[in-house]
Amino acid sequence: MTRRVLVVEDNEANMQLAVALLEVAGFEVLQATTAETAMVTARTAAPDVIVMDIGLPGMDGLQATRALKGDPVLRSTPILITTSLAMDGDRERAIAAGCDAYLTKPIDTRTFADAVAELVCGEGEIDG
Ligand code: MN
Repeated sequence: MTRRVLVVEDNEANMQLAVALLEVAGFEVLQATTAETAMVTARTAAPDVIVMDIGLPGMDGLQATRALKGDPVLRSTPILITTSLAMDGDRERAIAAGCDAYLTKPIDTRTFADAVAELVCGEGEIDG
């Protein structure tokens, strides 16, 4: 069964890299460049996993993560937070917002798709 991932990223180069890596790994990839559109896509397309940039125009990735984790339908969808800023405390804020995994950009092209797939596999084990 095809695994569907929603990538939320406002930087075009970062988006292209993430999409390429995930497509090669067999994911069906949905894209959003703002948290607002990501919320809509998450509700309509029900992705298996979400890759969420922290730094987004408008609502940021942490706010979006809190909103998704507060939604009864979407709160079991795993979220991998990414950030290029590596600000002190970002990891703690991401975990406090409810994210399931955290990566600092630039992403490691050798391990990125596996890190995303692991989150989906975790869900699959719960479902049997
Ligand atoms: Mn960004």
